[in-house]
Amino acid sequence: MPRKKFVAGNWKMNTTLAEAKALGSAIAQGVGSSSKVDVAVCPPFPWLVSVSEVLKGSSVALGAQDVHNEAKGAFTGEVSTGMLKEAGCKYVIVGHSERRHILGESDLTVHLKLHAAVEAGMHVILCVGETLVERERNLAERVFQRQVYSALAGITDEQWPLIVIAYEPVWAIGTGRTATPEQAQLAHLFIRSKLQSMHGEKIANALPILYGGSVTPETAGGLFSQPDVDGGLVGGASLKADQFLAIVKAAGA
Ligand code: PEP
Repeated sequence: MPRKKFVAGNWKMNTTLAEAKALGSAIAQGVGSSSKVDVAVCPPFPWLVSVSEVLKGSSVALGAQDVHNEAKGAFTGEVSTGMLKEAGCKYVIVGHSERRHILGESDLTVHLKLHAAVEAGMHVILCVGETLVERERNLAERVFQRQVYSALAGITDEQWPLIVIAYEPVWAIGTGRTATPEQAQLAHLFIRSKLQSMHGEKIANALPILYGGSVTPETAGGLFSQPDVDGGLVGGASLKADQFLAIVKAAGA
């Protein structure tokens, strides 16, 4: 069965409450109640409940940008899977490069967060990708192979349908420098072939692999036409409804 395309918007630490509601409404209206493409938006934590309200009646799902692996307790500033689910989240992003590289998240932290999320029944967007230095040193494949293996070790048969991978080369995030469709395809094919050798063809073929890194309405079509690119995780361009909707359209909506 062909994989359904998926486009998710990562709003990062942007928007006021009013802007978040307006952006969510415009996206919900543009996508409508059914779509050939799966769509999600990931607003900042404080706006999740309000954005969930404006998405009602549309097929746009709500996601969070991070989660803590513990269910509750003395973890000042953190947010649990239970809280995210109660706020209306279906998805959670785990291992975004800004958390790995700016906030120092390790592979182990990413593994624990991902497992907590799937154990709670949430869908996870696992971000992996190499830095520019790693690419220049020919280490790119080794890096994202390690990130994929360590995060997904121990995933059960029932949990695989909850996993989405986003290949996001760090040098392409927020820089305006997008990977070429060929570079993206090569990386996605590599990840899929490693998944296949570890977990079998069925799991590897069913798992969506998104591309992220300066996706725009202009670059989306070329990227999404690649056989192993199943959509995009979009940062900057997800903050403008018309741009985000154009990217959703490029995915086949
Ligand atoms: C991201 O934050 O995941 C991302 C891909 O950002 P941008 O589209 O701005 O590069």
